[in-house]
Amino acid sequence: MFGLQPTHLLIILVVALLLFGPSKLPEIGKALGKTIREFQSGIKEATQGFAEEIKTENSSAEAKPTCKSCGKVIAAGVKFCPECGASQT
Ligand SMILES: [Zn+2]
Repeated sequence: MFGLQPTHLLIILVVALLLFGPSKLPEIGKALGKTIREFQSGIKEATQGFAEEIKTENSSAEAKPTCKSCGKVIAAGVKFCPECGASQT
């Protein structure tokens, strides 16, 4: 993933200082802080969405019907287990 390290921030700060001059620095700092916060919350949201996706996948796997006789996962609505042939009704 994107490793935002303190050295990167320092480089950005120096570049900003060279580009805009010291008088604009407080504004840039504010904008930079806002960008980083948005960036971090974006990552957090993406991570949470990913975690929820995994959770949903797991729960749907649990909801899969299993054979009453042999316990193997079978398709929903089938009348007979394709593995052992046992009736599922
Ligand atoms: Zn079976």
